[in-house]
Amino acid sequence: MSILWDRPNFDNHEAVHFVTDEVTGLRAIIAMHSTHLGPAAGGTRFWHYAKDEDALMDALRLSRGMSYKNAMAGLPLGGGKAVILADEARTKTPEMVAAFGRAVNRLGGNYVTAEDVGMSVADMITISGETKFVAGLPVEQAGEVGGDPGPHTASGVFLGLKAAVRRKLGKDNLDGVHVAIQGAGSVASHLARHCAEEGARLSIADIATDRVEALAADTGATIVDPADILFVEADVVSPCALGAILSEQSIARLNTGIIAGAANNQLARPEDGQRLAARDILYAPDYVINAGGIINVSTEYLDDGGHDLVKQRIDAIPGRLDQIWDESDNSGRDPAAVADAMAQALIGRA
Ligand code: NAD
Repeated sequence: MSILWDRPNFDNHEAVHFVTDEVTGLRAIIAMHSTHLGPAAGGTRFWHYAKDEDALMDALRLSRGMSYKNAMAGLPLGGGKAVILADEARTKTPEMVAAFGRAVNRLGGNYVTAEDVGMSVADMITISGETKFVAGLPVEQAGEVGGDPGPHTASGVFLGLKAAVRRKLGKDNLDGVHVAIQGAGSVASHLARHCAEEGARLSIADIATDRVEALAADTGATIVDPADILFVEADVVSPCALGAILSEQSIARLNTGIIAGAANNQLARPEDGQRLAARDILYAPDYVINAGGIINVSTEYLDDGGHDLVKQRIDAIPGRLDQIWDESDNSGRDPAAVADAMAQALIGRA
C-alpha cells in the first residue's frame, strides 16, 4: 500500500503540501482537494494533534468537505484546507503565522485561506501582510463584506435548522421547540441568540465554563454537562463544537428527531448517515447547512457583490436541504449520501 494515495480519505486530492519553517517552528499541511470550480478555498485550523498522521487525516477530510461545501453553495471555488500543527502548549507567534502566509503565497492563488478553529481575524491580517490569497479580513481592510464568518455561518445554520423543524415537526417557527447546542463558541453563540429570539427552549454545553455561563445568561439557556449534551431529550441537537461526534455508539444514545449544526465532519464514518436514517433522525448534511461563513468569505475574496448577494446565497441553504431530503425520500438513500453524490457531480467526479 502506498503511503497516501490508497487511503480512503485521500480521495484523489489534486495536491497535498507539507510546509516547514525552521526559524519560526511552523509545521503545516495544505491540502487541495479540487480546483475544478475555481481556486481551492478553505480555512486554516490551528490545533494540537497527538500524531502527525491525525493532522494529515484532518486536513484531507476537511479539504474534501470544502470542495463539497463550495460546490453545493453554488460558489465558483474549489476546495482546500490547511492545518497548522501546534505544540502541546499551542504556542502561536505572529512570525509563525507570517511564515504560513508566505507558504500560501508560494501556491500562487491555487489555495485561498481564511479562519478556522484556533485562527483569528488578527491572524488573517498577519497573513495578508505576506499574500493576497486570504479572506476573512476585517471590514476596514476588506470592505463591506469583511469580518468574522461565524455570524454568517450561524445565520445559515439557523435557516437550515428551521427548515428541518418545518419538515419533521410541521412547525413554521421555533416557539417552544427544544434545541440542544453543543458548543458556546463563535457560531453557537450567534445561533443560540437567533433561536432564543424565536422562542426556542435552549440547552447548551461547552468545556469553556466562562463562555457557556455568559451565553446562558444572555439567552436563558439551561447549562448541561458537555458529556451529556448530545443525548439530551430535545427536538433538535445542534453540534457546533468539533467533528466526528456522530458514531455508532453516540447515535444509539440520541434522544432527538433532528441533527442540524455547524460542526464540520460530524459523521465519524460514512455509514453513520444510514444509522441516523435508520433511527428516523433527520440529518442536515454539515457542509450544506454550515456554508454561510464561506459564502461571506468568498464574496469578500471574489469581490463579486455585497451584503445582498451574501444574504441571497445564505437564503438558498434551506432550499438546497429540501432538495437533498426530497431526493433521500425518493431514493431511500440517506441525506449524507445524497449530498455527497450531488457534490461529486458538481465537481466533475460523478
Ligand atoms: P469556536 O472555536 O469559536 O467554538 C467552538 C467551541 O466548542 C469552543 O467554545 C470550545 O470550547 C467548544 N468545545 C470544544 N470541545 C467541546 C466539547 N467536547 N463539548 C462542548 N464544547 C466543546 O469555533 P466556531 O467558529 O464556533 O466553529 C464551531 C464548529 O463549526 C467547528 O467545527 C467549525 O469547524 C465549524 N464551522 C465554523 C464556521 C465558522 O464560520 N466559524 C464555518 C463552518 C463550520
